[in-house]
Amino acid sequence: MLPDIHSILEKLGIGPENDAWSTGTISGKGNGAILESTSPADGKVIATTMLITESDYDTVVEKAAEAFAGWRKVPAPKRGEAVRQFGEELRKFKDELGTLVSWEMGKSLQEGLGEVQEMIDICDFAVGLSRQLYGLSMHSERPAHRMYEQWHPLGITGIISAFNFPVAVWSWNSALAWVCGNTCIWKPSEKTPLTAIACQRLVARVFKANNVPEGVSCLVIGDRHTGKLMSDDPRIPLISATGSTRMGKAVSAAVGARLGRSILELGGNNAVIVTPNADLHIAITGSVFGAVGTAGQRCTSTRRLIVHENIYETFKQKLVSAYQQLRIGNPLDPEVHVGPLIDTGAVQNYLQAIERCKAEGGRFIVEGGQLTGGAYASGCYVKPCIAEVNAGFHIVKEETFAPILYLMKYKTLEEAIAIQNDVPQGLSSAIMTLNLREAELYLSCVGSDCGIANVNIGTSGAEIGGAFGGEKETGGGRESGSDAWKAYMRRQTNTINYSSELPLAQGIKFEL
Ligand code: NAD
Repeated sequence: MLPDIHSILEKLGIGPENDAWSTGTISGKGNGAILESTSPADGKVIATTMLITESDYDTVVEKAAEAFAGWRKVPAPKRGEAVRQFGEELRKFKDELGTLVSWEMGKSLQEGLGEVQEMIDICDFAVGLSRQLYGLSMHSERPAHRMYEQWHPLGITGIISAFNFPVAVWSWNSALAWVCGNTCIWKPSEKTPLTAIACQRLVARVFKANNVPEGVSCLVIGDRHTGKLMSDDPRIPLISATGSTRMGKAVSAAVGARLGRSILELGGNNAVIVTPNADLHIAITGSVFGAVGTAGQRCTSTRRLIVHENIYETFKQKLVSAYQQLRIGNPLDPEVHVGPLIDTGAVQNYLQAIERCKAEGGRFIVEGGQLTGGAYASGCYVKPCIAEVNAGFHIVKEETFAPILYLMKYKTLEEAIAIQNDVPQGLSSAIMTLNLREAELYLSCVGSDCGIANVNIGTSGAEIGGAFGGEKETGGGRESGSDAWKAYMRRQTNTINYSSELPLAQGIKFEL
């Protein structure tokens, strides 16, 4: 039986009409245009909200700046305690929030729940981090001097997020930014406003109970114009933007023009190399999940398979037979592997990419196409497909945000690596091999040029413990684990002289 979405909305505090902005417990209806949230699963409106206006936006920024003045002085482990409690709240509402993610965005229920689990995991990570915002100490070249560095809060962190991870990306940024002493303004995708409003309701409740200042967590419902206001705004020292490369270029130019900082998490065009030494079961499972999970709408989705000529035919047969078993349908149905695309615009992009691929000479071994009628009446459901291509096709070098998989052959590993790297994007990559030499070459400086390079794991998905992000047109940003927190703070180098002399550095003499 499918879950009852209306009772879930009620539990998450979402009504038929919702706020356009919130600084925590204080929310505003906003004066902009009405924004309807439509589920791609059945094409029906779930609820409405409004876009904010420029003056609503100013109210929020002022509140976030005011809150920063106090929040930065709260000891980091105390800030971590508030984040810990937010993680607990997410545990309590994991089912409801995960279901709403699935319904509003269209990914399978398991993936919706998995996304909320990522939020819980990053909260746990951030809590530990709140006691580990370490700086280094250095040895001064001058006698009786001490030198060290410390990390201070930066200010407001602006978070612009994409539709495909409607809640996790916010938490990757905000959990870290909060323990670092920053306040956050989140502009979610205009395609998924309700999941954002649900998150804001959950965090507001926890922050209020902990006397966290109003404005530490802010939400603005807006489209690209609001994203532009944020990118241009010198009151926001850091913009973390996740989305298309087109968007990233615009944000980077605007933030760069005011010498602000940005973290850019943009498009991917991820490849898996399957060598003759691969475990084919792992290779097939990893490739199929990577290509069709979230209906090919992950930044880390597998888009290209580069397979050695000696195993090509066997691999191809297994791949086609795996695709024949895929079930496409309502994302809340636990039996379904592939849900809908986000909207009919995405379906058009998918259909055009298929046509362009055919025009360049691509041969479809699993045919694509839009599914219509009955359970597919929303017009957002498509068939995952596979095309045999040449690596040099223009379409193969682009990110089409849909379940289209390009299959190609190689002779030498050097050639496979060259094919893999010969695209503008550089997010995720993988090699399937049990051969140590192949694996190590792939991970070496002459191997994969991506931010993420895996062995015997697909390209899709990541654990929060590692730094997440990619090179080239993927934007170069890093979020989540490892030392990604440093991007949310300002580093200060301090030198203290506890002698009765004033020796200058580099032995310079200055006598008065
Ligand atoms: P999108 O670029 O259309 O929108 C993303 C966000 O940017 C939205 O909130 C949108 O309102 C805003 N925006 C759009 N134009 C803007 C502008 N000029 N200035 C400021 N803000 C602007 O992307 P999408 O369709 O929502 O998401 C899909 C894309 O996101 C894919 O390319 C995918 O690879 C990428 N993505 C990347 C990562 C990553 O970590 N690398 C993660 C998720 C998604």
